[in-house]
Amino acid sequence: MYNIGRNLGDSDMNIYGVSLEELQDYFVSIGSKNFHALQLFNWLYQKRIKAWSEITDMKKEVIKKLEEDFTLEKIKLVKVEKDVDVCKYLFELKDKEHIEAVLMKHDYGNSICVSSQVGCNMGCCFCESGRRKKVRNLETAEMVLQILMIEEELQERISHVVVMGIGEPFDNYDNLIRFIKIINNAKGLAIGSRHITVSTCGIIPKIAEFSNLDLQVNLAVSLHAPNNEIRNQIMPINKVYPIEKLKETLKKYLEKTNRRVTFEYILLNGINDSEECALELAKLVKDINCYINLIPYNETNNLKFKRSSTIQIMRFYDILKKNKINVTIRREFGSKISAACGQLRSKKEEL
Ligand code: SAH
Repeated sequence: MYNIGRNLGDSDMNIYGVSLEELQDYFVSIGSKNFHALQLFNWLYQKRIKAWSEITDMKKEVIKKLEEDFTLEKIKLVKVEKDVDVCKYLFELKDKEHIEAVLMKHDYGNSICVSSQVGCNMGCCFCESGRRKKVRNLETAEMVLQILMIEEELQERISHVVVMGIGEPFDNYDNLIRFIKIINNAKGLAIGSRHITVSTCGIIPKIAEFSNLDLQVNLAVSLHAPNNEIRNQIMPINKVYPIEKLKETLKKYLEKTNRRVTFEYILLNGINDSEECALELAKLVKDINCYINLIPYNETNNLKFKRSSTIQIMRFYDILKKNKINVTIRREFGSKISAACGQLRSKKEEL
């Protein structure tokens, strides 16, 4: 089997996980032409072939070699839960693990929230996904296929992607970056970089690495607390990468990329939703070009956290506004269909 220069273990080389640049190198390495890479991207992502035999613009030997070296294997869609403007998809992977993706229908297009890992090691107390430790990283193909399969099921194009499903994307960095390159490529899924958002709990070294890539994608940081005391209690990662260091790194990110950062802030009743918290948060972010996305907590049956009341949410919002912070309250999708991170998989596996 062709070795594409990265460690693949025993796994088959799935073609949906190979970037255009890697394919160009591949075609050259087998003594063929590098322009076949673009042709192949066209077959995979525009024409959506189901079998190698559908390719008509390459020599038979080249197609045979592709068939030997790569698979066209998909992931299995095992369950769809539909609501008016949100659908949740449960997929089964080749090792029988389950992951989920959520589709949200906005007036500006279809947005999908993809998973990046099976399980998650970050251990955020309020999050359903983290109840199961990381089993493995998703391969690039398994991330790309979440989009392809949903487009196929929906028969509509997906225009926006957020990496906010199960897992910590910066704990699966190389596969994440390859995924972004494939979906962003004009001959791949052609999803504009400004329509792609990566959400992290704040893995500082990876944020720094990400700053250097010039990808122009959006970065969201799950902040959820205005100080280390509260953040340490709900997000263990804060003990490794505390708020002041996170802020310093984000300032450098802003200098390098000139891209505004989004802070996600889940409002948890009695934990981080007081007026003092709002004031402290305003102070914390006032010298950063950012906006804050306030998220009403999606309650789960398994965790003890409660969502803040609407009055409390509005009070928090008003304080930020008064302090001239850009802030929005996230429109709610999917509380009826268990669309909080990790809920569908939990139900399936009856955890
Ligand atoms: N690990 C990444 C991405 C996955 S979580 C991160 O931490 O950003 C995506 C977002 O959903 C995070 O902001 C997370 O804190 C939030 N989230 C998790 N459980 C939630 C729930 N029950 N209700 C609302 N948001 C939740």
